[in-house]
This record gives sequence, structure tokens and C-alpha cells, in this order.
Amino acid sequence: MPAEFPDFRVGSILATSFTGTLTERRGTVVERIPMPRRLADWLAMSGLAVDSCTDAHLELARELRESIHLAATAAASGEALPASAVRVLNHRSAVGRATAVLTPDGARRWLLDPGSDVEDAFGVIAADAIEIISGEREGRLALCASPTCRAAFFDTSRSRSRRWCDMNTCGNREKKARLRANGQKRPRSGEPRS
Ligand SMILES: [Zn+2]
Repeated sequence: MPAEFPDFRVGSILATSFTGTLTERRGTVVERIPMPRRLADWLAMSGLAVDSCTDAHLELARELRESIHLAATAAASGEALPASAVRVLNHRSAVGRATAVLTPDGARRWLLDPGSDVEDAFGVIAADAIEIISGEREGRLALCASPTCRAAFFDTSRSRSRRWCDMNTCGNREKKARLRANGQKRPRSGEPRS
């Protein structure tokens, strides 16, 4: 069954991995959490395992996701943050009651309340978004150079010169397109190699 659904893009930044559950926003949009079960799968993969998700949770997830997307895009562009997006982020952060705990081997894990685990998980994601949008964390918000993507991503590279939200997808595609374009400029040179 799982092969029927678009897979997840695994990123190191929680908030932008979450916005990456909808990709190719400027092209042929891919929804990677098309149903509550996939939202639960994504949360489990991200260290925020919950009992189960409902349609209502999925709706809240998408509202939060698009709010993060809008606010992060505005911040990356140096524009004013959309008030409605800020409201959603703040509300999700306020109602979440997750507790950070330390595992015996020194890692951080989130404890979610059994009665409100999905909302707690959203609270963790919202707080993560607030950290990167406010500039509290070491790194730079930027927009993906791919014209069909333009996703906001958080660049933690030393040079702060990353151009793509994801090297394996957007970065690779751009590289191949460039090679193809170069190949066309040189007729009869055969297939460009990557
Ligand atoms: Zn991208």
C-alpha cells in the first residue's frame, strides 16, 4: 500500500520539512499528506509519533503548513509577515503542550499528551517555525532557485549559499536541465553525461 502515496522528503529542519509535504507549489503540485494516515506517518517519521489523525487534524495541519509557508516566504523575501499566518502560528504554538525530555543517550525527544497529542505535535512544529522565521536560530531563510518550487528553506551551510530546498530533487533537476541545455548548444555531441 505505501507505494501508492508520494514519499516524504526528509530534511533536517522540522518546520521546512513540514512545508515540504506540499511540493512543486509553482508547478504540478504534489500533496504528500493526502490523508490523515499519511499525516500520522509523517509525524512518526519526524519524532512526533501520535496515536492517530483525523480529517480535522489534517485540515489543521494544512492550515499550519500554509501559514508557515507564507510567513517563511515573506521573511526570506524581506517582506512584512502576513498577519493571518502569524496568528495561526502563534495559536498553534500556544495550544501545544509538548514537553522536551532527554533520552539516556543524550538526545531530545518530545513527550506528547495522550489526550491532545496531534495538537501538541503541531505546537512543536509551530515553535520550530517561529525560531527560524524570527532569526533566533543560526542560519538563513532563502527561497529555492527552482522556478516550479520556490519553497522557503533554511540554509545552515557554512557559506550560506545553498540555492535549492533539496539537493536530491530540485538541485538535481536543475543540474540536469543545465546539462541538457549545454548539450543542445553543442550539436551532435551525443547524450550529455551527468
Ligand atoms: Zn525546491
